[in-house]
Amino acid sequence: MARYVFITGGVVSSLGKGLASAALGALLQARGFSVRLRKLDPYLNVDPGTMSPFEHGEVFVTDDGAETDLDLGHYERFTGVAARNTDSVSSGRIYSNVLEKERRGDYLGKTIQVVPHVTNEIKDFLAVGDDEVDFMLCEIGGTVGDIEGLPFFEAIRQFSHDKPRGECIFMHLTLLPYLAASGELKTKPTQHSVKELQSIGIAPDILVCRSEQPIPEKEREKIALFCNVRKEAVVAAYDLGSIYEAPLAYHREGLDQAVLDAFQISPAPKPDLTTWQDVQDRIHKTDGAVKIAIVGKYVQLEDAYKSIKEALVHGGMANRIKVQVEWVDAEVFDHEDAAPHLEGFHAILVPGGFGERGTEGKIKAAEFARTRKIPYLGICLGMQMAVIEAARNLAKIEAAGSEEFDHEAGQKRFEPVVYHLKEWVKGNHAVKRKVDDDKGGTMRLGAYTAHLAEGSKVAEVYGTTEIEERHRHRYEVDIKYREKLEECGLTFSGMSPDGRLPEIVEVKDHPWFIGVQFHPELKSKPFAPHPLFADFVRAAKDVSRLV
Ligand code: GLN
Repeated sequence: MARYVFITGGVVSSLGKGLASAALGALLQARGFSVRLRKLDPYLNVDPGTMSPFEHGEVFVTDDGAETDLDLGHYERFTGVAARNTDSVSSGRIYSNVLEKERRGDYLGKTIQVVPHVTNEIKDFLAVGDDEVDFMLCEIGGTVGDIEGLPFFEAIRQFSHDKPRGECIFMHLTLLPYLAASGELKTKPTQHSVKELQSIGIAPDILVCRSEQPIPEKEREKIALFCNVRKEAVVAAYDLGSIYEAPLAYHREGLDQAVLDAFQISPAPKPDLTTWQDVQDRIHKTDGAVKIAIVGKYVQLEDAYKSIKEALVHGGMANRIKVQVEWVDAEVFDHEDAAPHLEGFHAILVPGGFGERGTEGKIKAAEFARTRKIPYLGICLGMQMAVIEAARNLAKIEAAGSEEFDHEAGQKRFEPVVYHLKEWVKGNHAVKRKVDDDKGGTMRLGAYTAHLAEGSKVAEVYGTTEIEERHRHRYEVDIKYREKLEECGLTFSGMSPDGRLPEIVEVKDHPWFIGVQFHPELKSKPFAPHPLFADFVRAAKDVSRLV
C-alpha cells in the first residue's frame, strides 16, 4: 500500500505547490522509491479542457486522453511518470459523478450530502492505484480557507484517519514575508494558516516556507513551536534561477529527509542525485544563446504555452545553449508584413491554438520561415497553418483554409484543406463525432501512433520510424491534397497507421521545417529532452553561428 503525502497551501496562492510536489517526487525517486502524483482542484469546471488558456494556462493532455491541469506537466517533467486520467480531478468532476450516481439510483434514495457522499467520492479518487507505488503525492489546489476547497480538506482528513497510523502525512506551503522596515521575516501569516488547517482537523507534519531571505534559526524555532512541527520539518524554499534546481535545492534544505522522518523510514536510503546534478550543470554551463520566437495568440499569459517553453529549455540543455524565448503576438501582423516582427530570430515556433484570430499572422510566419530558410516548428494549429501556407502559396489553392474558421464564422469562405474530422480509429475502435457535439471532450485526444517515412528528416531526428505522441484537436489536414502538396515540396513524412491522417509534414528543400499534428512538448523532460525540440534548438544554434 502506498504512503500518502498531502500537499496543501496557505497565506497566498502561487507559492509553487506544484513545483514542490514535483521536486519531492523526484527526490523520493532518487532514494529508490516509486511515486505517483495527483492534483485535486476545487474549481467547478468538470475538466480544464474548456477553460480559457488566458485564465488557466495550458491544458495538459495525458496519454490516456485526459485534459488536465498544467501541474500534471510539472509532475511528469520532474518524475518521468506518465500521468493518467485518474491523476487529476476537480470539484466539478466529483459533483458530476455524485449526481450521475444519484440519478442512477445508486444511493438507494438516501439524502445526498457533501459529507459523506462528496467526500467519499474524493476518497475513492485518492485510493485508485494505491497498490502500485510506494508514495502517492496528492496536491490540493487553492489555499486553505477557500470555501470551495473545504470538501477536499475534509476528505483528506478522513482519508488519513481511515488509514493505519503513519501512512499519511501533511505538508503545508506558506509564505514568510520580509518586512524591510523592521528587517525581519514575519511568521504570523504562517501561524494563522496552520491554525486554519488545524481548525479543520489537519495538523501539518512539514512546513515548506517560501522566503526571499535565509530563515534565521530563531524564526525557525518560533515556527516549529507555534505551529507544532519539528524544527527539522520547517523547510525553506528560496527563489530559484531555474525550476530545475528545485530538487537539489529542496534536498539541501532537507525536505526529503523530513518526509522520510515523518514516515519513520529509517535508515533512509541514500539518494542518487546524479540526474539532477547533470541537469543543473546543463543549465549553468552553456555556450551562447539562441533567440526563438513563439508566434501565438495567448502570448499575454506565458503559462498558456508552459510545456512548449519548458521543452525549448530542455532543447537548450541538450545543446548546452541558452534559449531566449520571445512571445510574438500573431494578430499584430494579420494584415501587414510579418518580416519586421520576425527578423533576427534564429528559429520560429508556431504553437497550438483555437479559433481564427491571429491565424493569418501565423500563416505569414510560416511563409517567412519557409522562404527565408529559418528553422520552423509548427505544432498542431502551427502545422495546419504551415500546410495552408503551402497550399496557398505553392500549390496555388488560393482559398485554402480551415473548416474550423468557417464553422466559427458561420459561413463558407475557405477550401477546407484542413477539415473537421468526425470518424477515426483509436486502437481497434472507431470513434465518431458530430459537428454539434458539445465542446467539452470531443477532440482527438491522447496518445496515437504515427509511422514515419524512411529517410525523412523526422525519422532521422527521432531515430525510429514508429512514434507515439499526444493529440488534442478536432481538425485534420485532408489527405486529398497530399499529392498536390508533395509535388510542391511539402512532404507528408508522418501518417497515422491507417494512412488516413497526416501527422507530420516537412519542407523538402529547407534546413529545418517541420509541422506536427500532435504535441511533442508534453513528453519532453529536462533529463530526456524531446528529440524534436533538441534538434530544433540545434538547428537554431546553427543559424546563430552563421550570423
Ligand atoms: N484548433 C485546431 C484543431 O482543433 C488545432 C488545435 C490545437 O492546436 N491544439 O484542430
